[in-house]
Amino acid sequence: MSDALVQIRDLHKSFGDNHVLRGIDFEVAQGEVVCVIGPSGSGKSTLLRCVNLLETPSSGTVLVAGEDLTDPDCDIDAARRHIGMVFQSFNLFPHHTALTNCMVAQQMVLKRGKKEAREVASKNLDRVGLTDKHDAYPAKLSGGQQQRVAIARALSMAPNLMLFDEPTSALDPELVGEVLTVMRKLAEEGMTMLVVTHEMAFAREVADRVVFMDGGVIVEQGTPHDVIGSPKEPRTKEFLRRVL
Ligand code: ADP
Ligand code: MG
Repeated sequence: MSDALVQIRDLHKSFGDNHVLRGIDFEVAQGEVVCVIGPSGSGKSTLLRCVNLLETPSSGTVLVAGEDLTDPDCDIDAARRHIGMVFQSFNLFPHHTALTNCMVAQQMVLKRGKKEAREVASKNLDRVGLTDKHDAYPAKLSGGQQQRVAIARALSMAPNLMLFDEPTSALDPELVGEVLTVMRKLAEEGMTMLVVTHEMAFAREVADRVVFMDGGVIVEQGTPHDVIGSPKEPRTKEFLRRVL
């Protein structure tokens, strides 16, 4: 058996008669950074959401850290605790400060005491470069800063896997860089990351592997050098011609 952190086997997902994922097989090794690229509607978000069971697969298996999340006996809440997810929209609590936004789930889900939760939150806000914003409310923060709070909040749960779904797509162009910088740092620190992104420069530089999806299947995958630099499949070539 492979010791990959994420192992996905023959994953299918349909919404009614819309067959969105059509047999996905892939793995993410411990410490690996995998970027998923592909046209809108190709199933990227659905794939990511199946990894932490925000969507229930129609068939196939999803193993995370050796645990089969599709097994009816699996404790999904327990498994999900170790998977951080960052979305396009930041979804911060507006009536909580940056610091308390990073404390709530620690206290509610991990049952950490207030003092420990505060220390962990504080450390992670510093880690994403928000040392001077601990007490700021989301409305007073830029989109880039809010997204960094969302990353710090996910990190505060001590995840062993981070999922990112187009984390910079909702940001003004000048704010994209600060979020990518934080993600690059996490990658360098050895975090296992699965990232859906349209940022080809980021994928090229940071990804260990790039997966190109179209029509609910993986069309091509490999190093960024191969997939972005010299794609083999016509569909990959066409997609890259449009986005590069
Ligand atoms: P991508 O992230 O690559 O743009 P998605 O995974 O969001 O693609 O969507 C793939 C397809 O699945 C689309 O046709 C979309 O309409 C459909 N879909 C996604 N989520 C749902 C849902 N919760 N209910 C019904 N259809 C959905
Ligand atoms: Mg999507």
